[in-house]
Amino acid sequence: MPRLLIIGPPGSGKGTQAERISERLGVVAISTGDIFRANVKGETPLGVEAKNYMDAGDFVPDSVTNKMVRDRLSESDVQSGFLLDGYPRTVAQVDYLDEILAGDEEKLDVVLQLIADDEELVSRLLGRAEVTGRSDDNVAVIRHRLNLYHEQTEAVVAKYTEREVLIQVDGIGGIDEVTTRIIDALSNPRYLQPL
Ligand code: AMP
Repeated sequence: MPRLLIIGPPGSGKGTQAERISERLGVVAISTGDIFRANVKGETPLGVEAKNYMDAGDFVPDSVTNKMVRDRLSESDVQSGFLLDGYPRTVAQVDYLDEILAGDEEKLDVVLQLIADDEELVSRLLGRAEVTGRSDDNVAVIRHRLNLYHEQTEAVVAKYTEREVLIQVDGIGGIDEVTTRIIDALSNPRYLQPL
């Protein structure tokens, strides 16, 4: 029952890799960004609340995000494990997730961090903007999201490093190449049952 988190700066390929790895492990991928985007698209109350934060590249407030994650993790498809993508990204969210998981005597088995440098990420995201038209993929907002990653999310990485569950993977390269690196890293029996 693997419980994983994939973490990395915007544009590092988290979402793409999360889909692939979750399929390989037979667990559900839960992307908070995707859930928010679906709600924005459907103009639900949650989407209306989240939209302005997302467009500005800010974090959606914890009061909204934490509840959404708690609800999602109470669904039955997480029984066989899960791969979280994009949550937690602040230390306060780590504490909240710890509480949710402790209720079921659980914890994260592995935290995978994708590494890529800022300039590479900016050019990737600008390329993505042309394809997807995501409203938060423009230079000013991209820089802001990267800053938030450095200011807040790296502290999350530090926490999981202390807990000795962190694996770092180079996120630069082709999609298949990065997937192979991740699978190889996860095959270390220290982290998960051999794949
Ligand atoms: P992502 O697709 O992971 O880049 O997320 C897109 C946007 O959704 C972020 O820029 C935030 O506005 C919001 N978001 C996603 N996950 C979180 C989170 N854990 N906490 C707060 N906001 C989030």
